[in-house]
Amino acid sequence: MAAAAAWREVLHMMSDDVVLGIVLPLVVYWLYAGMYHMMMMMMPPALEPFRLHSVQEEEQRNLVTLPQVVKGVLLQQAIQALIALLLFFTGMAGEHKKQPSLAVQAAQVLVAMVVMDTWQYFIHRLMHVNKFLYKHIHSQHHRLVVPYAFGALYNHPAEGFLLDTIGGAVSFLVSGMTPRTATFFFSLATMKTVDDHCGLWLPGNPFQRIFSNNTAYHDIHHQLHGNKYNFSQPFTVMWDKLLGTHMSYVVQKRANGGLEARPVKVYVELEDAEPIKTE
Ligand SMILES: [Zn+2]
Ligand SMILES: [Zn+2]
Repeated sequence: MAAAAAWREVLHMMSDDVVLGIVLPLVVYWLYAGMYHMMMMMMPPALEPFRLHSVQEEEQRNLVTLPQVVKGVLLQQAIQALIALLLFFTGMAGEHKKQPSLAVQAAQVLVAMVVMDTWQYFIHRLMHVNKFLYKHIHSQHHRLVVPYAFGALYNHPAEGFLLDTIGGAVSFLVSGMTPRTATFFFSLATMKTVDDHCGLWLPGNPFQRIFSNNTAYHDIHHQLHGNKYNFSQPFTVMWDKLLGTHMSYVVQKRANGGLEARPVKVYVELEDAEPIKTE
């Protein structure tokens, strides 16, 4: 009987907005990153002109294999889901509020964006400045010198907890959003992070048109010359600009085909190609 009651409780829980808020971003991650992966696999010649790095560069420079990346992301997501469920069970995120008007929800999403950007900028920057934290935690994410979509959340579990889980919880609590609005916000943040690692500069991609912080901007951060710049993520470049860690980039044609994101300084010095996009 106790088992039946527990099962009923689990079923009740699965229909709750809070659980949707935990599960949907995970589904969005694999669907969106999976879409990029399939595109790369199925039509490499068609996508070649839009790649920020060549296939050879991806194979030679990355210090981790795709199966290792997938395993790492699954572990991280399992830990995050568990922590979120624990929060739910302890009632921290489980209160039922009435869904506010669309205008209020939009304002809450904007507040959550600013809070998440602020949280992630300072923790991310600290993990680069502090040698111990970089060596033992954040360097795992930087094993992907040539980022791809599945690698967006390839992090040390401690980084996932600090940056994403706590960052998400703080954004949720400060903005005062309901679990339903949070489902949208976390799914949006997930898609944005995946897009920032996709390595493709595609015409008409809304994330790359709307946000100055995009796949080219974050690609600079993944390169050696940009390692101390462009810490801002996932939405704006606000803190990089305010605190002098912003590295402007230009997207231009690569010598052997495709595209590349280069720091503007280097571009001006070399003056060897027409810019496609300058930010
Ligand atoms: Zn970093
Ligand atoms: Zn990254």
